[in-house]
Amino acid sequence: MALKFRLKGLAETFVDSITCPCCGVVGVDDQNFTTELTKVTYQGIIVVVQCRECKEIFVPPTQRLGVLDNEALRGAVEKDSTDSGEAIMPGIAAVKLSAEKLNALRKGCLH
Ligand SMILES: [Zn+2]
Repeated sequence: MALKFRLKGLAETFVDSITCPCCGVVGVDDQNFTTELTKVTYQGIIVVVQCRECKEIFVPPTQRLGVLDNEALRGAVEKDSTDSGEAIMPGIAAVKLSAEKLNALRKGCLH
């Protein structure tokens, strides 16, 4: 069974199986991974997962993005940014960069 992320009428993303690039754990649901860091961008919902085993944060390459309403999605992303005060994530590149930053911070904290 694939993981499905949906934003009503705006976008949806499917993730088949997830493999942790750090420790190699494979999973298809939130038993092995958490998805709380998932971001909504202009390109759609970008699923960000954190491995429960080794705490690595990454963007699974196996996700399929679907945008149902480009304009409404754009509006929602901008509203979200205004509401939360966080910078807009334009797309998957920005999300990957933010995941890398989180990993660096996390590893920095371990020392
Ligand atoms: Zn892992």
